[in-house]
Amino acid sequence: MENMKLRHNFLRLSFLSAKMGYSRKMRILLVEDEHKIANALRQGLEQEGFAVDIEYDGEGGLSTALHEEYDLMLLDRMLPGGIDGVEICKQVRAKDIHTPILMLTAKDQIKDRVTGLDSGADDYLVKPFAFEELLARIRALLRRPQENSGTVLKVGDLTLDPATFEVARGGKEILLSRREFALLEFMMRNPNRVVSKETIMSHVWDFDADILPNTIEVYIGYLRQKIDKPFKGPALLQTMRGFGYKLGG
Ligand code: CA
Repeated sequence: MENMKLRHNFLRLSFLSAKMGYSRKMRILLVEDEHKIANALRQGLEQEGFAVDIEYDGEGGLSTALHEEYDLMLLDRMLPGGIDGVEICKQVRAKDIHTPILMLTAKDQIKDRVTGLDSGADDYLVKPFAFEELLARIRALLRRPQENSGTVLKVGDLTLDPATFEVARGGKEILLSRREFALLEFMMRNPNRVVSKETIMSHVWDFDADILPNTIEVYIGYLRQKIDKPFKGPALLQTMRGFGYKLGG
């Protein structure tokens, strides 16, 4: 009952603010069984101006996902009980609901990530992740048209498909490790911009990852060997001494 009242007030407020010309708050459904993570995420997202509803189990998550309207859903892949994030995703898509879905998956379960995307999720994020990275993904999804198809990133003749993990230059396939892929994806989402090592560190590496000062240089070197060295075209990855790195075509 109390919930209904709250919802009613929320809708009234949304209506009033829309009338007064304020932009509507984006609503996010978060399904996550780990209370600490869920509450921390909600707090962070609310500070960024989002309205967040949490469901702590698959059953509640599925019911809310099917009956309430959201701008985006954040689903944890692993949930206790019979209904996990993938199942919610499948059922939501089966009902023709095209709300962007970002799946949170356990570390290093690449297979899970692929299952998540197969089930109709738009993007994935591997736990633990940097909050900034989550925000970037959310913003990217909210900018996307809802009936999205190809979201292949392109810089010069280099292409990267976040959905299929395919990377190619001039049509020639390039094989990358998980970390190289994450680094390149981040650089390709920020083309022609100088990004500092600190920025790369907080976006591509987890807070708790063991990272040495030269780790990023090492990975930039790996990438250069794969995306620039074997190709005749201009070098895409540039070092801006003292400032960071830039990817541009
Ligand atoms: Ca979980």
